[in-house]
Amino acid sequence: MPEHKHGLTISPSQKLTKGARKVLEYLERAHDMTSAQDIHGLMRTEDPKAPGLTTVYRSLESLVGQGLVQAVQLGDGERRYELVRPGEHHHHLVCESCRKSLHLDECLIEQFEDSIRSNYGFQVKGHVLEIFGLCNDCSGSQKR
Ligand SMILES: [Zn+2]
Ligand SMILES: [Zn+2]
Ligand SMILES: [Zn+2]
Repeated sequence: MPEHKHGLTISPSQKLTKGARKVLEYLERAHDMTSAQDIHGLMRTEDPKAPGLTTVYRSLESLVGQGLVQAVQLGDGERRYELVRPGEHHHHLVCESCRKSLHLDECLIEQFEDSIRSNYGFQVKGHVLEIFGLCNDCSGSQKR
C-alpha cells in the first residue's frame, strides 16, 4: 500500500474560530454531506441569533483550507461539505436517478498525480473527481 500523503496534518484543536467549531458540530451531526444553506437553516431553527449564511460559508471554507472538511460538487451547482479525517479526502459515486451518493474509501488518484508530475513537470495542486451513473437499485440489475 502506498503511503497516504495528502495535505498537511493539522490537529483539529488548532486555529478554529468559534463559528468554525459550531459548524463542525453541525457537520458531525449531519453524518453526510450538507450544504451551507442546510447547516445555516438548522442553526437558525435552534438559535435565532445564529450567525448569517455568509459567516457559515466563510467558516466552512476555512475548515476546507485546514483540511478538516472537504467540499463536494455533485453537478447540481450546489456545493456540499462533509467531515473528513484531517488532511484526507475521498470521492463519490453519484446516482443520477435517486441522487444517492456512495462514499469511496480512498483517493486513488495520487499515483496518477505523481506520474503527471514526473511526465509533464506539472505542479499538481489538487483534483476534482466524482463519478456519475446509476446505482444498483436504479439500474435494476439483479435485485428489484
Ligand atoms: Zn439510484
Ligand atoms: Zn463522502
Ligand atoms: Zn482524490
